[in-house]
Amino acid sequence: MGLGVTWAIDWLQLSARKMAEHRVELIELDRAIGDSDHGENMDRGFQAVLEKLTESAPDTPGAALKLAAMALMSKVGGAAGPLYGTAYLRASTALGPQEDIDAAALAAALAAARDGIVARGKAEPGDKTMVDAWTPAVEAANEAVALGADAVAVLAAAAEAAEVGAVTTDPLVARKGRASYLGERSAGHRDPGAVSTALLLRAAATAAGF
Ligand code: ADP
Ligand code: MG
Ligand code: MG
Repeated sequence: MGLGVTWAIDWLQLSARKMAEHRVELIELDRAIGDSDHGENMDRGFQAVLEKLTESAPDTPGAALKLAAMALMSKVGGAAGPLYGTAYLRASTALGPQEDIDAAALAAALAAARDGIVARGKAEPGDKTMVDAWTPAVEAANEAVALGADAVAVLAAAAEAAEVGAVTTDPLVARKGRASYLGERSAGHRDPGAVSTALLLRAAATAAGF
């Protein structure tokens, strides 16, 4: 049994709660190596997602993610808005009209999201960006699928790997985004976008009942 639209909507609602709860933490992380707005951007974006969800009820996971993409692109701004917008849109396209998302489809959607972020932002692993959370998440999801995991276990593996990935950004010198303006001084701080990615993927696993 896979994951349906109820999961997708629960995920988006939980994401909004998590972005609100971690707003200040994300602002503080971005204060150290950016312009202090990542928590505000993400909170505002996911409040817009919630608003859109009250206006229309998506009937597939793909439709829910498309709704989220549109809200994020129009409301988040900065670097993260187009990057997350592209991620959710690519994931939505990968899922298509499927109503029941199995483990393989989920891993493919995560890979499509990551590929969208890379296509848009041109960051490589190790550049100290959200890609450092997404890439291990995609790898862990693919490994879980190969081992016969179900969709919930795929999300759990992805969330865990994203959390580890976010921590691995600490010693890195930023080569993309605002933090790269700091050069060597960006080392010793965690990347805010990698942390928000880990929070969002953890929310996906929690919404799936893990
Ligand atoms: P801004 O930097 O425009 O203020 P945010 O603060 O909302 O935007 O988002 C910053 C985050 O965006 C960074 O922590 C990083 O994870 C991510 N980011 C920035 N540039 C890139 C890029 N080129 N590729 C991938 N992620 C990026
Ligand atoms: Mg910022
Ligand atoms: Mg900004």
